[in-house]
Amino acid sequence: MQLIDRDLLKVYQLSSGRVFFQDVDDSSKVKEADSLTQVRDFIADRCRARQARKLARLQVQVDLAKRSAFTLLLFDLSSLYAILSTIAMSLSAMFDFARKDVEVGESAPKELLLEKHADYIHAYEQKKDSYEYIMAEFLRMSGVYWCLTAMDLAKSLDRMNRADILQFIKESQTESGGFAASQGHDPHLLHTLCAVQILVMFDAVDEVSSDRIVEYVKARQNEDGSFGGDEWNEIDTRFSLCAVACLKLLNRLDAIDIPKATAYVLSCQNFDGGFGTRPGSESHSGQIYCCLGTLAILGELHRIDADRIGWWLCERQCASGGLNGRPEKLPDVCYSWWVLASLAIIGRLHWIDKVSMKRFILACQDDETGGFADRPGDMPDPFHTVFGLAGLSLLGEERLKPVNPVFCMPEDRLAPASIRVQLLNSR
Ligand SMILES: [Zn+2]
Repeated sequence: MQLIDRDLLKVYQLSSGRVFFQDVDDSSKVKEADSLTQVRDFIADRCRARQARKLARLQVQVDLAKRSAFTLLLFDLSSLYAILSTIAMSLSAMFDFARKDVEVGESAPKELLLEKHADYIHAYEQKKDSYEYIMAEFLRMSGVYWCLTAMDLAKSLDRMNRADILQFIKESQTESGGFAASQGHDPHLLHTLCAVQILVMFDAVDEVSSDRIVEYVKARQNEDGSFGGDEWNEIDTRFSLCAVACLKLLNRLDAIDIPKATAYVLSCQNFDGGFGTRPGSESHSGQIYCCLGTLAILGELHRIDADRIGWWLCERQCASGGLNGRPEKLPDVCYSWWVLASLAIIGRLHWIDKVSMKRFILACQDDETGGFADRPGDMPDPFHTVFGLAGLSLLGEERLKPVNPVFCMPEDRLAPASIRVQLLNSR
C-alpha cells in the first residue's frame, strides 16, 4: 500500500472493471487499465525501473571507488540499499521466492457457487442496453460462445434463447462464408470458430452453409502451412487452431494441407518445449494450448517432447495455487484453462497440485453477483467465468459436465458427431 500511496495520485474503477488512474511521474495524463491488478503491476514496474536507475548510478560510483578506498564514503544509503536488494533479488530468484503471486484470503469462496454463475450469465445476456454489453459488440460472437459454454457446462443451456442466438449467428455470416463478431463487422477465423462451436452446441450445423465456411477457412492457409486470421493475413498459431478446429467440427479436415499445417506449428516450438505465436516467438501458455490442440486434432502429438513441455507448464503454478501464462506474470483464472487443458492433452494433468489449483479458482468467484474474475477480488466477467468453470470441470468437479480439453465444449455435444481427437496417455 505504501508503494501505491507514493506513486499513485488518483484511481477510479468503473463497474465494468476498467480503471483510470494518474501517477506522480506524469500527473497531467489520465491512464487507463483493465484492472486494479494491472495498475499495481504498472507501479511495480515503475519501481523496478527506478531501482535500475539507482543501480546505474551506483555503477558509476563503483568505478570511482576503484581509485581510492576512501571514496567508498560516496555511497549513499539508497545505493547501499540498492546493492542489498539486488543481492536479495538474485537469491530470491534463485530459490523462486520472488515469483509474482496473489494472496488467497481466508474469506474467499471455497465452494462452487453454481446457481449464482448461471444467474450471472443469464442476466448478462439479458442486459442488452448495458454499457458493458454495447461496448463488447466487436467481440459479441466470442461473448456468446463464452456465455453458452459456461451455461452448458453448468447444465443450464436451456435458459438461453436458442432461436434468438441462431438468428444472430445467421446474420453474422458474411459473403465470404466466414463469420463476423456481429452484423456489419469483418469476418475472422476467431469468430468463425465460435460460430461453428455454437452451432454444434445447439445441434444446428445444418442451418447454415458448411461449404461456404469451409471455403473461407481453406482460403486462410498460407503456402508455409500457417493460417492468417482474416483477409489482412495476420499470422498466429491461434489461427491454426481456429482453422483445424472449425474443419474438424464440420468433418472437413481434408480441405487443407495437413502436413504443411503440422510442419508450421512444429516450427513454432522453442528449446524450452513451449510454443509461441510464430517461429522464434516467446513460449506462452495460450499459444501452447493452441499448438497442442492443433496437433491433437491433426493426430500429430507424438511429434513433440511431452515431458519437456509438461515441465514448462507445471512451472506455471504459483504458491497461491494459481497458474500464470509465462514466467514473471501473475496467476490468472483463464490460465487455469490454457495450462490445465494443455496438460490434459499431453496426459500430464496430475503433474500439478490440484488441491491448491482448485482453491485458487474457487477464490476467484464473486460470491455476491456470481461469475469469476481473473484473480481473487477483481470484477467478474463471462470470459473468466467460462474458463474458471472449464478448469474446474477438468479437475473433476462433478456438478459440471465433463469438458473436452481441445474444443472447450462439453463432451456430450461432441459425441453425437463422433468428434474425437488424439490425447496422449498419462505417465
Ligand atoms: Zn485472464
